[in-house]
Amino acid sequence: MTWLDLPPGTGFGLDNLPYGVFSTPGTAPRTGVAIGDAVLDLAAATGDRVHATGSLNAFLALGPRAWAELRARLTDWFTDEAHRGAVEPHLLPRSEVTLHLPVQVADYVDFYSSRHHAENLGRMFRPDSAPLTPNWEHLPIGYHGRAGTVAVSGTPVVRPNGQRKTPTDDAPTFGPSQRLDIEAEIGFVVGTPSQLGTPVPLTAFPDHVFGVCLVNDWSARDLQSWEYVPLGPFLGKSFLTSISPWVVPLAALDAARVRPPARDAPLLPYLDDTDAGPWGLDIAIEIRLNGHLVSCPPFDLVYWTPAQQLAHMTVNGASLRTGDLYASGTVSGPATDQRGSFIELCWNGTEPLTLADGTTRTFLADGDEVTLTATAPGADGGRISLGEVTGRIQPAP
Ligand code: CA
Repeated sequence: MTWLDLPPGTGFGLDNLPYGVFSTPGTAPRTGVAIGDAVLDLAAATGDRVHATGSLNAFLALGPRAWAELRARLTDWFTDEAHRGAVEPHLLPRSEVTLHLPVQVADYVDFYSSRHHAENLGRMFRPDSAPLTPNWEHLPIGYHGRAGTVAVSGTPVVRPNGQRKTPTDDAPTFGPSQRLDIEAEIGFVVGTPSQLGTPVPLTAFPDHVFGVCLVNDWSARDLQSWEYVPLGPFLGKSFLTSISPWVVPLAALDAARVRPPARDAPLLPYLDDTDAGPWGLDIAIEIRLNGHLVSCPPFDLVYWTPAQQLAHMTVNGASLRTGDLYASGTVSGPATDQRGSFIELCWNGTEPLTLADGTTRTFLADGDEVTLTATAPGADGGRISLGEVTGRIQPAP
């Protein structure tokens, strides 16, 4: 029980306690913890400089023992009435604070681990061959993205300019993307670094990864399709990646852990999680376009788990840094209303979506606002919230 008066079904109860970075007018950004409709000013409440740096990195670098200690302390503060007098003055209404990018992002990697998404894209772009490439069931495919353009929810999404060329065009043209899209993903934030030359095994996932956030990997499909062969995504992705402001600790997701889908190909030993604790996560995502619910991608069906992604990312000896962010890849389920991108929802422009207000969409129009939200089972039997990541499309410059 807590002495706080929490709104029913808040999603930000004692079983969540996500971390973010906030400021109030005239004050410097600092670390906070979301609880109900409030944020606890951790810098003030603890007096610890690690929470006054303007990003979570210094705290994340302290490692899993420090993460667990602070979580236990927060739980004690919010449950024992004896702490009320000291804690309550440091609670601020969340509606009155500005939320900032929570993590100074070190390296950014994006995977491609949802089978339904990969199959949908394969069917659209390679209709005469197998939907999955031969490597897909053997390794989590990924690429390195642009860490410097990862931004917090609410950052305007300026339509990118670039080169486009369809197969029937004689030559490429330059101009605003005509096929601006989203990708609904879950992101994983690394706290503890690793040594160059030392792979991180599957079982060490919770020693290195602090928590999760929502990711919208904005994608210009026309730029992407012209540039991506043979080296993969580049300018069609790097103009902006939006993340949610609250990082939910892995410790809050114990009740959400599930076995990943059955494997169709034998796993090499470094990816074999048969006897390891499962790191599939039962996270339910919702996608809204201008307030209309358009899709509900289920994260529990994603084929490769974040533990396998981390093991794969480091198996060659590549090291981790505090603040590394890696995203799951677009999350799509088998149903048409579980697809995690508009290119799938409108089947490459051939099946326009009709919204509740009667308007139709294929790709995004200037002025459109896309919001991703997500929830997962919490320890107290309810659901915890991952908050939201939102962005509005602005015209190309
Ligand atoms: Ca992506």
